Amino acid sequence: MVKAFTQLERVLKLEAEQGYQNKAVVGGIRQFATFWVGKARDEAVDELDVDLVEQIASTLQEYGRLQSTGDRANTVQELQQKLQRRKERVAHLPQTGPRPQTAAQPPPTQAAPSAEAPEAPLPSAPSALKEAAPDPEGLKRPTSTIKGVGSTLSQRLSTLGAETIGDLLYIFPRRYDDYSLLKPINRLQYGDQVTIIGTIWETRARRTHNNQTIVQSIISDGTDKVQATWFNQPWLTDKLTAGTQIVISGAVEQYLGRKVFNSPEWEPLSEELLRTGRIVPVYPLTKGLGSNKMRQIMKEAVDNWAARVPDPMPETIRERQDLLALPEAIFQVHFPTSRDVLHQARRRLAFDELFLLQLGMLGQRRQWQSDPAQPLTEGDDVLQRFISNLPFQLTGAQQRVTEEIRNDMARDIPMNRLLQGDVGSGKTVVAAAAMVIAVANGAQAAMMAPTEILAEQHYQGLNRMLSDLDINMRLLTGSATSADRSEIYAGLSDGSIDVIIGTHALIQDNVQFNNLGLAVIDEQHRFGVDQRAALRDKGISDDGQQPARNPHLLVMSATPIPRTLALSLYGDLDISILDEMPPGREEITTRWIRPSERERAYAFVRGQIQKGRQAYIICPLVEESDKIEAKAAVEEHARLQEEVFPDLKLGLLHGRMKGEEKESIMRDFYRGETDILVSTSVIEVGVDVPNSTVMVIEGANRFGLAQLHQFRGRVGRGEHRSYCLLISDAVNGDAEERLLALEQSNDGFMLAEKDLELRGPGEFFGRRQSGIPELYMASLLDVKLLETAREEAQWLFEVDPDLEAPEHAAIRQRVEQFWDNAADIS
Ligand code: ADP
Ligand code: MG
Repeated sequence: MVKAFTQLERVLKLEAEQGYQNKAVVGGIRQFATFWVGKARDEAVDELDVDLVEQIASTLQEYGRLQSTGDRANTVQELQQKLQRRKERVAHLPQTGPRPQTAAQPPPTQAAPSAEAPEAPLPSAPSALKEAAPDPEGLKRPTSTIKGVGSTLSQRLSTLGAETIGDLLYIFPRRYDDYSLLKPINRLQYGDQVTIIGTIWETRARRTHNNQTIVQSIISDGTDKVQATWFNQPWLTDKLTAGTQIVISGAVEQYLGRKVFNSPEWEPLSEELLRTGRIVPVYPLTKGLGSNKMRQIMKEAVDNWAARVPDPMPETIRERQDLLALPEAIFQVHFPTSRDVLHQARRRLAFDELFLLQLGMLGQRRQWQSDPAQPLTEGDDVLQRFISNLPFQLTGAQQRVTEEIRNDMARDIPMNRLLQGDVGSGKTVVAAAAMVIAVANGAQAAMMAPTEILAEQHYQGLNRMLSDLDINMRLLTGSATSADRSEIYAGLSDGSIDVIIGTHALIQDNVQFNNLGLAVIDEQHRFGVDQRAALRDKGISDDGQQPARNPHLLVMSATPIPRTLALSLYGDLDISILDEMPPGREEITTRWIRPSERERAYAFVRGQIQKGRQAYIICPLVEESDKIEAKAAVEEHARLQEEVFPDLKLGLLHGRMKGEEKESIMRDFYRGETDILVSTSVIEVGVDVPNSTVMVIEGANRFGLAQLHQFRGRVGRGEHRSYCLLISDAVNGDAEERLLALEQSNDGFMLAEKDLELRGPGEFFGRRQSGIPELYMASLLDVKLLETAREEAQWLFEVDPDLEAPEHAAIRQRVEQFWDNAADIS
């Protein structure tokens, strides 16, 4: 008996000789295929063969329908090449018998409908929002109220953050697949993201060696046919029966020279289309809740409930800003009827977020300022003395900002000011000036820093600056002895301590001030909203004797934030900027070098250390886990210590170390007991070791621009010329742009703008650091919408600052909810 593959070879040869007329076998190739496939399956020697047989079979099925001789010739040649390759492959296989059938094959489907399906009708237009009365109570009902959602599903929805129907409506699609482009099959192009409508000609299923099922359908729309393949969904054979009208959406791919769909979305034409033929929402999912189920649930929820969402936005604002009504926006964001209206829906929802953000900030500011502050009007003479005793002259920026602060503090409204200044711009001395003013008025001042090292550093620096003035200053950190601690507590509450510098230890319950006039928070982004509030609250006397009073507040940040963003993030604060560096500061020389130049970098480091300087080596960022990152850092430290710098002392700092361990490593470096500090990205912003003059950053391409600039700010803090060497392990995406920018500029604000532009605000800040509610729709980069929202919030705030009017009750509630969520994360 002639083997199936050999037989096919002969048939193809004959067909070619006869000029591709489909006459090589009686009854045509299509019929031959039906007989051939059964035989060939039995003879398949391995998995690749099994696949090959199916591919060949479907090609043969199509052969007779190919119109041009050229197409037929190509097809035959393709098949011949396949057979040739198979021959070569099989020749190398160990000799075995035919492969046993792994599973029963379904019989080939009966002949497809003989007549071409008529031109398919267009899918029904997606349904529109129905009118319904607002029902805020109904929206509070659990998700299990929705048809098709039982207790298991409602559990899963709650892991996505939806307890109630109202929550569910606010689970927005992560993205959309736009399948609104409908095309006839003969016009499909590779790479198209499209929808086709047609009739199923036939569907076949088969199994692979690991017992997976492959289902293949041939779909025709009268213009042409196309094959669609699905994996591991054996039940599809029952659904995709010949003659069924079907809608298919997906990407057109190329397979063996033909256009195919792999795992496309599909729906019977008879139903309202949810996942084909339209802009299809793609939702965040969770275990046990797949995309189709999620879409069904959302559709059910949106159809029945979107119309019942009350719209809290004042009519005036809605009209003025041409905003979609909220129910319509919710409906459209889930199941958009067009790109244009989707854009409008997103704009409305983004506006809401920014508006609530701004209203919240205005409210916070108002609340904060509702209790009066102590006006600190005295002390200009002491301030002048302090300034003239400094070993340097204040920069123009420092003078201007000191003046701003001085004016704020003289008022009976609490100061609420953010002092922004690039690393090294001299924020500390400005804070010191503010503290001098407080003390000169008989009030106390407190300064909180995020780590013991920073607190200590401030303590020592301020001690030097304030030594000529009669000020009692103390340091309070977690490592204070209990004797010290009780003494400090006593001194703070009786007022004998004027200035306290410390860490979180300052906001412990036991800490009570006699008369806190000024609270300073350094590196404010390192503290949560609550911690900042806790320090403020230390100023409010609760003895019932005096009226409650707020201290003046100065928060400082070395993360330069572009002004637009600062407004939206810290709309509750006044902002001062130190935009001028102290004179005589040499620019840090930054070089992006090749990994092959690493040895030279080490030699350079060694040279600096021989001159008595110190160095940092920053290890690459490992985003997946700080455990792996720490391990890599440990290895790098060992390698450098043993192989590169055996005669020097190297310290190691990483994120898996305990606080105390980190502090002691830092202290050694501070005191010059270690020459090189090898560190991961945990290295503190604000660490000031003026003797360190060179930093090597490995894997520099992995860090954001703002962060690289922060790292670099650890050097160039003293009188010596300083250097930063960037080594990147790959240059991908924006990395080149970032590294070049860093080489060219030392201007933190410029670099921050650039970073923001390259990465967007989410990554720029890291979610937890900003202390503002998470935004799902809005982008803080959308300056135009941001400003509009800000203006409207101010307008509403002027009309009704406490949102007391009945028509504003709903919006007040939304503001509270919105900001509650922020409190949860900080
Ligand atoms: P940062 O803004 O990063 O907190 P610091 O307050 O630590 O900066 O100041 C950095 C260094 O610059 C300190 O050593 C400080 O004494 C010094 N410095 C501050 N202001 C001036 C000035 N006007 N002239 C010269 N040196 C200054
Ligand atoms: Mg500082």
